[in-house]
Amino acid sequence: MTKPDCDVAVLGAGLAGAAAACICSDHGLSTVVLEARDRVGGRGFTRNFAGTAEALEFGGSWIAPWHDRIRRYAERTGITLRPTHPVIEHRWHDGEMLRKGLPPPDLALQAVKEHALLYKAGKPFPWTGPLTLNQYLERIKADPETRAHVLAWWTISGNGDPAYISASEFLSSCAYGDGSPESMMTALRHTLVPGVGVLAERMIASSKARLELNAPVASVSQNSNGVTVTCMNGTMVKARAAICAMPLNALRFVE
Ligand SMILES: Cc1cc2nc3c(=O)[nH]c(=O)nc-3n(C[C@H](O)[C@H](O)[C@H](O)COP(=O)(O)OP(=O)(O)OC[C@H]3O[C@@H](n4cnc5c(N)ncnc54)[C@H](O)[C@@H]3O)c2cc1C
Repeated sequence: MTKPDCDVAVLGAGLAGAAAACICSDHGLSTVVLEARDRVGGRGFTRNFAGTAEALEFGGSWIAPWHDRIRRYAERTGITLRPTHPVIEHRWHDGEMLRKGLPPPDLALQAVKEHALLYKAGKPFPWTGPLTLNQYLERIKADPETRAHVLAWWTISGNGDPAYISASEFLSSCAYGDGSPESMMTALRHTLVPGVGVLAERMIASSKARLELNAPVASVSQNSNGVTVTCMNGTMVKARAAICAMPLNALRFVE
């Protein structure tokens, strides 16, 4: 192999790729970051709200109290955290009309709370095997009002299709607080003032990595001398090692 272009090729410029670039830089390693899109940040994507200077998050945005690493990277890149606005009003659609306020406590909501607290305590649920959120709502006999309330909160915390996602996924979010769906806001403590996209940009800039945008990785080959990464736009990077920071579902497009 001819002289490598860098020590490490980082595949993907989401927050994981940006963190990889920072860590390599901290260890004195030179890095090239290869990103398929024309921007960094991946699932962290910030744009200004139409015609204003207000940053709007289209992807990941909330930072929980235990998200230590992102807090450290924000501090390192001079990014301020903003406390999340408290919830001042509940409105949700029950399929027929717009509802206001919390639904009256019922047995189904009580069950949600109990099951979320079981999750929090690391105790088993009183059922075996996988249960989708829809199956769970049937199991706890949620009436249409409770169902709409639960799904409204699920939209905020995960937003997967309730016909497929696991009930435990929803309950794990409720477990952030006192077990009620609305208490999941306890975890959604901060956002970043300029946006997650700006954090990723600053992390990569601070790492001094060479950033290649519009460079979808097509193949990675390895031999005893290192790795060669080839992109669909013809970019080729030879490195001593590669770090893959792409989502798992994108790997099937890479040879
Ligand atoms: C709508 C939404 C809301 C969310 N809300 C929150 C939240 O509030 N709090 C929270 O903690 N998390 C949240 N998340 C999750 C969080 O955003 C992600 O877990 C995180 O951004 C993933 O970062 P990553 O770097 O691992 O992956 P990604 O951000 O997906 O980055 C992977 C990068 O790899 C690139 N890539 C893909 N294929 C290739 C290729 N062939 N060659 C080169 N590059 C490639 C992609 O373009 C992308 O830039 C949310 C996610 C979404 C979508």
